[in-house]
Amino acid sequence: MSGSELERTGQKPTGQDLTEGCVLCGKCLEVCPLLAATGREELSPRAKANLVQLLGRDPNALSEQDAATLAGFCLGCGRCKDACSQGVDVPGAVSRLRNAHPGWKAWVWKQWMERSKALWPKAGKAARVIPEGLAPGRLSGLLKLARGLGREPIAPCVRVESFPDSLRGTEALLFSGCTASGAAPHWTTAGEAICDGLGLVRINAAFSCCGSGLATAGLLDERLEAARRNVEIWRSAGRPLLVAFCASCTLGLAGYAETPALAGELFQDQAEAGQWAGSLTPLSSLLNSARFVVSQGAPQGTGYHRPCHLQGPDPDETLVRGMLGDRELAISKDCCGFGGILQLGAPTLSAQVASRCWKKLAPAPGTLVLTGCSACVLQLSATAPEGIQTAHWLEAIATNDRR
Ligand code: SF4
Ligand code: SF4
Repeated sequence: MSGSELERTGQKPTGQDLTEGCVLCGKCLEVCPLLAATGREELSPRAKANLVQLLGRDPNALSEQDAATLAGFCLGCGRCKDACSQGVDVPGAVSRLRNAHPGWKAWVWKQWMERSKALWPKAGKAARVIPEGLAPGRLSGLLKLARGLGREPIAPCVRVESFPDSLRGTEALLFSGCTASGAAPHWTTAGEAICDGLGLVRINAAFSCCGSGLATAGLLDERLEAARRNVEIWRSAGRPLLVAFCASCTLGLAGYAETPALAGELFQDQAEAGQWAGSLTPLSSLLNSARFVVSQGAPQGTGYHRPCHLQGPDPDETLVRGMLGDRELAISKDCCGFGGILQLGAPTLSAQVASRCWKKLAPAPGTLVLTGCSACVLQLSATAPEGIQTAHWLEAIATNDRR
């Protein structure tokens, strides 16, 4: 159900239904990266669950401005949702709050997401020459993101010696996502080359945004529209294998079938929703039995950043371990502080979370930190200490001799 539909049907779009059942146990306090980085209890998931409950009972309990401000203070990482035994969905409720209190931040974020192809390359170039002090307070977060977009690709340090051939001849769609389409076309080129190496028969398609960034910002109608377009492309192509290389996109696309209200809007029936879920495959998992050779000039220190919205096995981490063989790999499990719209609403909080993440990883100079999430690449690149390289794992693989 979209934000607008909630309003049309008379339900309060506060997300109260998503926070019902909160027993104030405080389990979520242990996992919230925003609380860990700031020590501010009022930013904790428990406080936000309470706030949403309060707004549901008495819409005048907070001013419009206060509700909108608090709705901005969440990274949308989902850790609290996974930790909560009562099924309380704080990030979902915050998304609804944002939808109910749209302001300039949501508007800017909408332009930023929907016009990624046109805006991001220009923003990446401009950000390299704009001194940080010149960006007006809240836009400094956006400038940071833009710096991440303007980064140069790293030199590849691994090559594929042999590809598995179990999927040779299988038709596939490659879902690149907004960052690759708007600012990192070399990821798409590398992804395509890997698909070719695997022997997949690629079908060309121009997908929309997966919609997860739009949903986090409360732009639920826009997310629904993007999802409809994506499902139609997949359906028209004969429902083939759908391969994605961004961990956030994979999660966003998986959500189409996992969220009952959304699945009801998007799919003809449950069988088609199941087909969607079954066809969606992270590119990294297709390389599980590939053999890699690490080049002699590869960085001495290597790290892997695990996106915090991922629970359970992480196919990107498995791949990176396989790529690097017996090299030591430092693992970062702390939130990088991206948080999408948080960069606009509270760039200082976002920076605090990022700083904590880097302090805990404490990489030696010259370390290369890889990840599989586009948003994490941007945030890590924008906040990395001097002398630390960050990249999507796709960049680490040499692709010139692959086709
Ligand atoms: S949101 Fe869940 S984990 Fe957090 S205080 Fe409420 S019941 Fe406990
Ligand atoms: S989604 Fe993440 S940042 Fe937001 S309240 Fe939950 S744990 Fe904290």
